[in-house]
Amino acid sequence: MKENIKLVLKGEDRTRLVEVEGIKVGKEFVVIAGPCSVENERQTIETALAVKKAGAHMLRGGAFKPRTSPYAFQGLGLKGLKILKKAREETGLPIVTEVMDPRDVSWVCEYADVLQIGARNMQNFSLLKEVGKARKPVLLKRGMHSTIDEWLSCAEYILAEGNYDVILCERGIRTFEKATRNTLDISAVSVLKEITFLPVIVDPSHAAGRASLVPSLSLAALAAGADGLMIEVHINPETALSDREQSLRPSEFENLMEKIRKLNETIRSFYERDSA
Ligand code: PEP
Ligand code: MN
Repeated sequence: MKENIKLVLKGEDRTRLVEVEGIKVGKEFVVIAGPCSVENERQTIETALAVKKAGAHMLRGGAFKPRTSPYAFQGLGLKGLKILKKAREETGLPIVTEVMDPRDVSWVCEYADVLQIGARNMQNFSLLKEVGKARKPVLLKRGMHSTIDEWLSCAEYILAEGNYDVILCERGIRTFEKATRNTLDISAVSVLKEITFLPVIVDPSHAAGRASLVPSLSLAALAAGADGLMIEVHINPETALSDREQSLRPSEFENLMEKIRKLNETIRSFYERDSA
């Protein structure tokens, strides 16, 4: 057995469940949706209401944005978190939001129901230790250049600090293929299911990089046995301050949710899952 992973391994005594405000990730198929970035109150609340209406279980939205360029929109920070809190009050949807700095973890916990660790920070070990000490579930994205083993080793850091509520999120990896922003590694879902008890969700938006590809990749992830999806939705993608090309409009998301429900109804017995 590899020495870098032990706590994340499947065991008879462990059930594959992370509970977020009564939502059982790993039992029911869970859809997290919302904008890439929190831009303002109206954009966030309107998107939140739309994804809630379509059947999303949680709201995503970044207040701290890890951007390639220092001149790109960096997120609203605390102001953004306050907007997310308001969206939570208006919709009842739990909030998934990224934390980038170990020094921010304790106070971001006051606003987040799930702490997201982005692909670029997957191996930020100080950050992993800090969220490991937090009393909040963690959504750990796969680093864009990372192997499954390296990814699990990062999850191990969080569990080793006592936090077992970790959700893994496959978001595509860099390959020679340029037709998509990243290559969605569907096989990671199957591999992880064999190894770990942690729930595995898929982010088709950052994998595809294009809205038109998001529905088929979402359905593929569901069919492969993923425990959920994280999808970017924006009320007006053309004006989005980040990831505009990959964001779905509310109507497109609503159509996709309909398909997700139908497919899940057909296949849920294969994976012993509750209905969406
Ligand atoms: C995001 O979720 O908006 C994001 C920045 O994703 P990733 O870390 O996967 O690039
Ligand atoms: Mn994004």
